[in-house]
Amino acid sequence: MLGGVTECIQIVEVAPRDGLQADPADLSTAQKVELIERLIAAGHSRIEAASFVNPAAVPKMADGDAVMAAAPRNSGVSYSALALNERGVQRAVAAGVDEVCGVVVATETFSQANQRATIAESIQRWRTISDTARAAGTKTVVTVSAVCGCPYEGRVDPGRVLDIVSELADTQPDELALADTIGAGVPTQVGALFAGAAQRAPGVALRGHFHNTRNTALANVAAAIDVGVRIFDSSLGGVGGCPFAPRATGNVATEDVVYLLHEMGYDTGLDLDALIDASTWLETQLGHGVPSLVAKAGGFPQPR
Ligand code: ZN
Repeated sequence: MLGGVTECIQIVEVAPRDGLQADPADLSTAQKVELIERLIAAGHSRIEAASFVNPAAVPKMADGDAVMAAAPRNSGVSYSALALNERGVQRAVAAGVDEVCGVVVATETFSQANQRATIAESIQRWRTISDTARAAGTKTVVTVSAVCGCPYEGRVDPGRVLDIVSELADTQPDELALADTIGAGVPTQVGALFAGAAQRAPGVALRGHFHNTRNTALANVAAAIDVGVRIFDSSLGGVGGCPFAPRATGNVATEDVVYLLHEMGYDTGLDLDALIDASTWLETQLGHGVPSLVAKAGGFPQPR
């Protein structure tokens, strides 16, 4: 509570894309759509629903058009989807996504592995994606990934991350995310990166994307809040990983971050009990447990 007014923090739910993409289970289109419906029922209004990348590279996401066609459209939900080239953004726009998301990796080796492009080429691709999306009236969101550590190069120079932020700010995205793709970051590093990004991208909304590989994601969320970040990605149950970063685990679990934010006095518009129910349902669909702790423990204990 700040001056008696509850401050809002927006959560972007990424389980249907970033989460499922890296899970060993292979959900059907109908299961993905039911997941989206359950997320909406829990209060989600921003959902990363699909990926329009080469289906040969990411076969699990090949049904993006079908997912978008079947997802509820009159619920005030903004759907985002990943696109990494001109063909991808055209497919995303044709499928009716509300936000097109692009990615620029912060290190050359990871950029080659993930996108088969240099950083400079990938920034150029983003400019094309952004132009096409904007011409179609679609919002644009760009993520700089591997900002806290790289599976190939190790430590990442924050100055280099911020130089990429400056170049991307030039395209005036609706949002710019910094992603700890492999879950290596710690709060001091995250706070400094976001404070720097705010200076390099004035007027651009910043968003945090933290994987929980080393159990630092919630601490990183809190550090980013301290320097003014008000939008975070999270994944129901904490499902996910990264196909190009071995041993990386999923994003911070939605239930865990929502518990934290509500107890800190922030509003998210989300219903924690409904999220826990959806997470329990997701376990049955995946055929395995999820990492979320709040899904196991429940919300704040009620007096008996
Ligand atoms: Zn991610």
